[in-house]
Order: sequence, then structure tokens, then C-alpha cells
Amino acid sequence: MHESLFLGPHGENAEFFRQIWGELLHRTLQHRSETFPGDSSPGITPPDSERIRLVEREIANFFQILQQEVPTFSNRYLGHMISDVSIPALIGNAAVLFCNPNLASKEVASAGLKLEMQAINELARMIGLEPASARGHFTSGGTVANFEAFWRARFRLDHWLSMGAWLLEKGHTSEGIFALAHQGWNSFYRQSERFGVDIAELAERSYVVQGPWDIASYYRDTLRFDFPQPVVLVPGNKHYSWPKSANVFGISEKAIWPTALDRFGRVCIASLRRNIEKARQQQRPVMMNVSVAGTTELGTVDAVDAACDLFDEYRRQENIDIWHHVDAAYGGYFCSTFRGGSSLLPERAIAAFGALARADSVTLDPHKLGFVPYACGAFLVRDAQAYSVSQVSAPYLIEDKKNDHPGWSTTLEGSRSATGAGAVWLSSRVLPLDASGHGAILNQTLATTQQLADKLQRSFDNIYFTPGRDTNIVCFTLAHTGASLRETNRRTGVVIDRFTGSPHFAISRTALGVKSYAAMVDDVVGQWHGVVDDDHLLVIRMVVMSPYLGDAATTDALLDEFVAELRSFALQ
Ligand SMILES: *Cc1c(COP(=O)(O)O)cnc(C)c1O
Repeated sequence: MHESLFLGPHGENAEFFRQIWGELLHRTLQHRSETFPGDSSPGITPPDSERIRLVEREIANFFQILQQEVPTFSNRYLGHMISDVSIPALIGNAAVLFCNPNLASKEVASAGLKLEMQAINELARMIGLEPASARGHFTSGGTVANFEAFWRARFRLDHWLSMGAWLLEKGHTSEGIFALAHQGWNSFYRQSERFGVDIAELAERSYVVQGPWDIASYYRDTLRFDFPQPVVLVPGNKHYSWPKSANVFGISEKAIWPTALDRFGRVCIASLRRNIEKARQQQRPVMMNVSVAGTTELGTVDAVDAACDLFDEYRRQENIDIWHHVDAAYGGYFCSTFRGGSSLLPERAIAAFGALARADSVTLDPHKLGFVPYACGAFLVRDAQAYSVSQVSAPYLIEDKKNDHPGWSTTLEGSRSATGAGAVWLSSRVLPLDASGHGAILNQTLATTQQLADKLQRSFDNIYFTPGRDTNIVCFTLAHTGASLRETNRRTGVVIDRFTGSPHFAISRTALGVKSYAAMVDDVVGQWHGVVDDDHLLVIRMVVMSPYLGDAATTDALLDEFVAELRSFALQ
């Protein structure tokens, strides 16, 4: 039913699309003609026939290149986290292009910022946040949204740490630096009022303001201990944006502490607790902890709820406030499947997604499961206070002091397009972000994923899936009983290469490193009684997110065709 809001793999919905596109052009031109209607026309002459022919010819050349693009709108595309975009998202995006606002400033985006705020509120509601207290903005993608979290967590920790250093230096406390670095804003403001600490005094003790070299000597010379280098706790299933952020923000790669994964590839909460205790023991503050709700590799969902319980316990019982960020770039939209309806997600995944609203900050990627064109990510915080970040001023722009809009100085990116905001705004109105709308499409992808997995299981008796599938990504390998991992990986590589060379289906691959996925690799290889003699398990990865797989008979025939192709590639 909802696929009526997509163009269709063969342009089946052409008529509806033409009508809506016509509506967009009509309104865009009408808006132009009605703006300063009294002005005399600058007398634009239309292009002559030669120039028109030039444009047409170049468009033909252009399409010759463009048509070689991977057809991700096809049902046969089951590779990466990309599929067709919805018509409302496309129209919302395109409509914004014609007026081209820049979200960097209210001066050139009065409507754009309104659209952004309302679209962010829709996303906030979807993940269970209270729009009145939440804040957020659109980014170019999940990577930058994760950087936004990093930036703000660092800002907060730097304040608490600077206050701690000041209190220690002046002899007002005997607490350890770890406890001081996690003291919370209430304590921060209480101390600052009690002792009349001003912001300049804190800046002198801030590692962000002073830089690592000066702050290292301050700690050594004045406080008589080494600067307590903060650590970031990231699960072994992390996206590569996390090591990138360590690199960009200048913390050592060694300061990214991996939390161990269980055999399902989910973060092990006991290991998380051990990491926090290790940090406390070494008196190194935890800048932030990251949970992943829908990993890039397997679509696995960490127990965000259990992690939230752990952080609540630290806050309540020990006054230790640790920033908890959830990277829900891929999975966040699954929240729509259980809002106002029943979800096909496993119970534990529902509980995990239900806890997104308890985290300090969340990354979403509308350009993945939101069926929105690139580039569109989003960063959200539960509480406005967590949105604070170092103010950087530019004298030529007016800042919104009321802070009801994300201003130019509070985002990592400068100029920002409102296309993503427009796309999310329009699509969330037409296709509500609950079980009746968007959630129905995602539930359908979950059902198709199950159908695919069942069919594969029935068709091959030597197929081995990664355990604990949480969402709509299927990963598997084919192996002979007793075969070594190295030999199995080689064979899998050959099958993947054959898919790459064939036009019929697009799949993807992932190598599950033994370093992060030890328990899972042992489990899977153990199932075929093999030996782990390689540093990774190579799997065929299929992301099932096409909105066109609702019709059971067509889908069944397509999956049969896939099974036949896989069989022929595996036997060759
Ligand atoms: C895709 C993804 C990202 C990065 O998002 P981009 O939009 O590619 O920048 C980060 N984390 C996870 C879990 C992802 O799936």
C-alpha cells in the first residue's frame, strides 16, 4: 500500500509522480511571479534554438553517464544501506532547492529554520523524546552527527574537569579527579557560586582552551599529577566514524577503549562496567560511552536499555555522570515500527530502541532507513543543556540568542542546506513516523528478511548465519564440515566476486575481525567444526530495505532466483 508513495522500480507510479512534480513546478513559478509583482521585468530573452540544442545535447551526454549508476532503486539491489527514495522525500528535497536557504543563519533561512525545527521535532517524537526539551539539527550524515556528539561531550567534560582542577588547586576538595570530572552540572554550578569561580579562571585550566602541551605542564607543575587523559568507550562493533573522531579531535587512538562483544555481536554490559571501573581505577575520565542501535555490519542492536540502567546506577549511587551517546544512524527509524502498532522486531530490540530517549544524545540517518535522498543525517539531544558547545563568534552573522534554532556557531558545519529538513518534513507528514506509515514499510522489510533467511536455510544444508539477527540485514557463509576458516573465506570471496561480475543481484560483504568478534567467529566456525586459522570471518551481507518487496508472490519468485544464482556460484 505504502509503495504507492515511491516511483517504482520501473516508474510504475509515473502518473502520480508527474502530477506532484507538476504541482511543485507550478507553486515554485507562482511564488516567483508573486514576489515583488510590481517590479518591471528585467527583460530576459529566452535562449535561441542553437543554445537550446546545446543544452539538450549535453543533457543527453549527462544521462549517458548517469545511466551507468548502480540501480539501487531495483528490487535486485540487496547490497548496502541504500534503496529507493520516497516521492514526498524527493519533492520535499527538490522544493527546497529552488529557494536554496542556508541554515547557517536566520537571515537567509527564516522558513528553512522553521522547517528544520519541525522536522527535528518529528524525529524527536519518533524516538520518544519530548520535543519541548530536546534539541537537534540536520547534518550531512551520521559521521558528522557522531562528531557533534563528540564535540559536545568534550565540552561538558572539559567544564567539569576544569572545575575539578580549580577546586583541587585551591584546596577546596580532596576528591579524586575521576569523580570531579563526572560531577554533573548541579555540582558545577553549586561550586561555581559558592567560590565565585569565573569562566576565565576555568579557561586557564581547560585542556580544550589551552591545548594538550600547556595543560600537561599545568597539571604536572601545579597539581603534581599527570593530566588525566579522557577515554571514549566504544563497542567492538563500532562504525569507522569513531576512530575518525579520535583522529579529528586529537585524542589518542589508544584512548578509544573497545568494549567486548558477546557471541551475538552486541555489547557486553559486564565488559562495559569493567571498562568504567578500569577508567576509575586509572583516574581517567570517560568522555563518552557509545552504544550502537543497528550496526553497519550486521544491523545488530546493543542493549541500550541495559546500558542506560548502568549509567543511571552510577549517577544515582555514586554521583558519576557519564555521557551516553547512541549511534542509531542505521537503526533509529525502527522506532516507527512500534509507535502505535506492533513491531516485527524481536522484543529485546524493541526494548533497546525504546531506551533511545534515555540517552544523552542520538545520531539518526534519514538517508538510510528514512528513504530520504543524500545527504541527510541528524543529531539530537534529550536535554537542551547537552546541546551547549563552545561559542565561536563571527561578527558578520546575527546569532539567535534565544537559542530556539541551531545557529551557525552551534553546529560543526557552517553553511547547511535545508534539503534534508524539507525531505523529512514532507515525508513524515505524508508517511507518519509510526506503525501506520513509515513503520509499516520497515515491518515489511523485516518480514522479507525473515522470508529470505528461511528460504536460504531450507535451500542449503551447509549455510551458516551470523547469530542473533536483530533487524533487516542477513549475513552468512557456506562452509564444508571441518573446513578451515581460511579456506572457507577464500571460497566465500570467490562467490562474492561472481556476484560482483553478474548483473542479476547486488550483495555486499563484510569481514568480521576476530579481534572484535571473537565470540561470534568461534560460535559460527564451531557450527561446521572448522578451525579458526584466519583473522576474520568473511560473510555475504544482504541489506533488505527495498520498499517494493510487499507482494508475496513476486518476492518469492525473486528470492528463488537469488537462491538459484547463489547455488550456481557456490558450485562452480
Ligand atoms: C552509516 C553509519 C554511520 C555513518 O553515517 P554516514 O551517513 O555514512 O556519515 C555511522 N554509524 C552507523 C552505525 C552507521 O550505520
